[in-house]
Amino acid sequence: MWAFFPRNSVSIPPAADKKSAYYLSIEFLIGRMFYNNLMELGVLEDVRGLLAEKGVDISAFEEIEDAALGNGGLGRLAACYMDSAAACDLPVYGRGIRYRYGLFKQKFEDGFQEELPDDWQSFGDPWSIRRESESRRIRFADGEVLSVPYDMPIIGKNRVNALRLYQAEGSESAAKISEYLYPADDTEEGKLLRLRQEYFLSASAVGELVEGYVKRHGKDFSRFGELCAIQLNDTHPVLAVAEFLRILTEEYFVPFGRAVGIAQSVFHYTNHTILPEALECWPKKYIEKLLPDIYDILLRLAAKQYRDMKKGGVPKEDCAAMRIVQGKNISMANTAVYMAGKVNGVAAIHTEILKNSLFAPAYRYTPEKFVNVTNGVTQRRWLMLCDPELCRLYDKYIGEGWRDNFSEIGKMRAFAADAEVLGGFAAVKGENKRRLAAYIRGREGIELLPNAIVYAQVKRLHEYKRQLMTAFAILEIYFRLKRGELPDFRPSVFLFGAKSAPSYFRAKGIIKFINEIAKKIDGDPDVRDKLQIVFVCNYDVSYAEKIVAGSDVSLQVSTAGLEASGTGNMKFMMNGAVTCGTMDGANIEIVERAGRENNYIFGAEVEEIARLKEEGYDPNARLAADGEMRRAVQTLTDGTFGDGGRGYFKDLYDSLTVGASWHKPDHYFIMRDLPEYVDRLLEINAEYGAQSFVRKQFINAVSAAYFSSDRSVREYAEKIWNL
Ligand SMILES: *Cc1c(COP(=O)(O)O)cnc(C)c1O
Repeated sequence: MWAFFPRNSVSIPPAADKKSAYYLSIEFLIGRMFYNNLMELGVLEDVRGLLAEKGVDISAFEEIEDAALGNGGLGRLAACYMDSAAACDLPVYGRGIRYRYGLFKQKFEDGFQEELPDDWQSFGDPWSIRRESESRRIRFADGEVLSVPYDMPIIGKNRVNALRLYQAEGSESAAKISEYLYPADDTEEGKLLRLRQEYFLSASAVGELVEGYVKRHGKDFSRFGELCAIQLNDTHPVLAVAEFLRILTEEYFVPFGRAVGIAQSVFHYTNHTILPEALECWPKKYIEKLLPDIYDILLRLAAKQYRDMKKGGVPKEDCAAMRIVQGKNISMANTAVYMAGKVNGVAAIHTEILKNSLFAPAYRYTPEKFVNVTNGVTQRRWLMLCDPELCRLYDKYIGEGWRDNFSEIGKMRAFAADAEVLGGFAAVKGENKRRLAAYIRGREGIELLPNAIVYAQVKRLHEYKRQLMTAFAILEIYFRLKRGELPDFRPSVFLFGAKSAPSYFRAKGIIKFINEIAKKIDGDPDVRDKLQIVFVCNYDVSYAEKIVAGSDVSLQVSTAGLEASGTGNMKFMMNGAVTCGTMDGANIEIVERAGRENNYIFGAEVEEIARLKEEGYDPNARLAADGEMRRAVQTLTDGTFGDGGRGYFKDLYDSLTVGASWHKPDHYFIMRDLPEYVDRLLEINAEYGAQSFVRKQFINAVSAAYFSSDRSVREYAEKIWNL
């Protein structure tokens, strides 16, 4: 392979007078590079053939490396953007951490999740080039660590970009910084380690970029913003702003106010969530303890912000909401919004929520900062690599131009009434389903129901994503089947794939609950040839590639307003699954493009959720009024299922019916949306098999152009980075 990558080709130093963008992200969920790189080089089929001549199946490479240096959508987005930037010939470079262990490997033990370390380098790391000579020292209050960059080539058709990941070295305690993605943070020590990671990434990247600038342009920093944009992928790398100010003021004696102005022309911030528990706030005392210089800078910045707000006559409440210092904490989001040239949400509705609620005061004073860039996914991995048959179908009817210019995929819409094309499309889906079934047989030892509808909900396990609601919906269907009320029900497989954060008790309870339901259905001869649940183990990028190609229905059922965008929804759409989901995140833009009539939308919309919160929402009254729903929910406590006495199910039941000190009962409005959800699933079941259903799938697939991350990165380049 090395012949393809001369040692110095991946780190293209930006031309002296050309602007580059740097994408700082605590996660890069890269996945397997082997097939992707062969495809980008245009030799995948040749290599497949050569290996076959030697009696080697190219899928043998599935056994090695699947760099999971991320945990879900945010990290996968970063990886898609790297791919698209290289493909679109844009000078965009990733900066992250080279974790020794990526996201844990998941195992089920009696239906409970167990976590094993992900030793992704056990077969070596053929892609990275260590740049020892570019190492730098990163200073903490209790000592220095060495940051050693590793460059991974990101191959595009006409360009190779580098993804640079920093590894911490120097001592045993130094190496801990880049040991684990998301170290357990239920102790102070764990939280401090996380803060160390954030600063390590921030200081490694900023140190390098400032040094590079000074080498080329000297100590006049006035052109920094003209030549360099730094994108903060969520708040994890926000300390980069403070580090930038520290270097300019302390090492180059730039006056503080001027340094702030320069920083505001360099940094931009992408928000990924409005969930209050996910908005980072660092206790002042942690920052002070670990990073005293940075702490001073942040306090100076906070004081300047406060002075400016006072001078500008900003009323008290607005000041309070926007302040960098929030009591004993530093708000990373407020720091980011204050310092960013542009702040973006990741789907149209999400950006509106940022403007109208989360960051409403900031939007009022600086509306020009706020822009939307709807997420995208790379069609090279999420269509061309995982669904080659569908691609050949497109080639046959519209030629191959769409492969370089994905917007041309829309030309296929002209064939939406063509029986031959729809037949070809259905045949491809059928073949992908057989392939998926074979893969699941190999991985899980489970035989999928033949000729079944495949519904899939694959994504991180989180209450707001409402896997629990899907579980209840399946239970309702199960009970109706048992009562013989659904005589025409078509065999249906529900695929789940999800990892729970190791310390997230409720999420782990939901995994166990779904596995219990799966077992019950599987053991019930009355229904097991009609209904099946498979919770695949260790859902990751490689698994996702197979599932999106082989599914009929994409379940995207988050509580309206809470899924910032979603990208899984886009992968499924691209591969011709209909969306069964709520009006949330990018689902809204998906149905805007593919037609609401071609998808299965249900549930409360954002306005209704707000109204229910305002007027009072009573899940218990809804349960009392709906016997079907009650029966499903009560299986948590009526002895139908057991959780080995660990208290998971009682806790889930209480979360729905009693609430807790920090939330009201059924915080995610499952009882509001569940009845409509069941109706939608059954409607799909009834329509499946008709040509009209195939057409819906087809229209989704060929309307997916907008959801290419090529479009997204071009929007960043134009609206934010000014490349
Ligand atoms: C795309 C992807 C995600 C994000 O899925 P959402 O449904 O948008 O939450 C998470 N994990 C993996 C492995 C993915 O490929």
